[in-house]
Amino acid sequence: MSEKLAQKWRECKLKPPLVCELDLTRTRGDGDFPCPNCGVIISPEDETEDVYRILETKVRGQALEELIIQCNKCATRIRLIGFPIPETDNL
Ligand SMILES: [Zn+2]
Repeated sequence: MSEKLAQKWRECKLKPPLVCELDLTRTRGDGDFPCPNCGVIISPEDETEDVYRILETKVRGQALEELIIQCNKCATRIRLIGFPIPETDNL
């Protein structure tokens, strides 16, 4: 893992169960990020569950607050926070 990438991970417990925390406000582009353990690219937009599966979602109001996913390849659990607040444009 590069140093720049390592800075994105605020918290990484290296003993099982491996849980990492990623603040999505620190990612760029469309939110894809590599698994901290095996490096597989995880896309939050991916709904196929080929790469990861969702373990838990926490929602505040209409906004997604927290998502806990598990990498299918290495079983690392990743806690995603910092979701963009969706614009409410109800006309
Ligand atoms: Zn992985």
